[in-house]
Amino acid sequence: MEYRELGQTGLQVSRLCFGALTMGPLQRGLSPLEGSKVLRRALDLGVNFVDTAELYQTYEHIRLALQGFEGRQTVVVATKSYAFTREGMYESIERALQGLGLESIPIFMLHEQESSHTLRGHWPALEVLWEAKKSGIIQACGISTHHVQGVLAASAIPEIDVISPLINSTGIGIQGGSREQMLQAIAHASALGKGILAMKPLGGGHLLATWSAALDYLLAKADIHSIAVGMKTIEEVEHNIAYFQGRRDVPKPPVTTRLLHVDEWCIGCGACVEACPNGALQVLEGRARVVSREQCVFCGYCGASCPEFAIKVI
Ligand code: SF4
Ligand code: SF4
Repeated sequence: MEYRELGQTGLQVSRLCFGALTMGPLQRGLSPLEGSKVLRRALDLGVNFVDTAELYQTYEHIRLALQGFEGRQTVVVATKSYAFTREGMYESIERALQGLGLESIPIFMLHEQESSHTLRGHWPALEVLWEAKKSGIIQACGISTHHVQGVLAASAIPEIDVISPLINSTGIGIQGGSREQMLQAIAHASALGKGILAMKPLGGGHLLATWSAALDYLLAKADIHSIAVGMKTIEEVEHNIAYFQGRRDVPKPPVTTRLLHVDEWCIGCGACVEACPNGALQVLEGRARVVSREQCVFCGYCGASCPEFAIKVI
């Protein structure tokens, strides 16, 4: 497994990062024990970087995978939260420490930032992250974003160490600019010393048919230090690791069709429409509908926002 310095964080991370969203309740719904076995296989094979979020509800899966793992001290867990107040961020950090069973969190990020405007709105939470870093409770702080402006805005803040941007070979899901503009923003951030963790390399599953080309596209980018690939089976783990180790005879993981399902008890409240970062949903005739199938990257954010549990990735 190839490892890279994650910008100027002092953290060494595997080029393949285990994306924990896919195994959790917003997507495949593996139990913590089942999910821990999938992640543990990745750790045993040399992956030392795990990307999660409060929203993903996979802290328990990760805690169990780390339990008794010999290389536990070298595992870099990145998590994120939507907190925007000081109090909210204190609670998020505490939940992560308890949930993950860690004494300190390697990377803590603000989830889904769009621009300098949203960063200003989250400033109290950011200040808590910086204080937590000073006292050793977290080691690095950052943001995740689907937006070109989000990358540029975070680049301008010296205290932000890590940026997790959405980038892939077709540009699916990128907001506020083209794939090239996102790459330029990433290069700018990387030149300033930010660690770059690419997300959605397979466009939430849309690019599975061109799996190897989509991975090669990002692997060739020196500015991208690690690539988060969502994994939910041991087979997928082994295929991805072999590919990242340079084996080009690996067959692509079996393509599993994913759908966004809206149950009939949807009340048409529109919360999911607001939550979708990609404009893929609308309420039509009193019910949520996918209006732009190509823009849906199966992130599951709509499902997490639904008060009726009526929309989910299946
Ligand atoms: S949030 Fe849930 S109930 Fe509201 S429109 Fe979306 S799917 Fe329907
Ligand atoms: S429709 Fe839901 S799963 Fe698809 S991009 Fe929007 S929030 Fe994510």
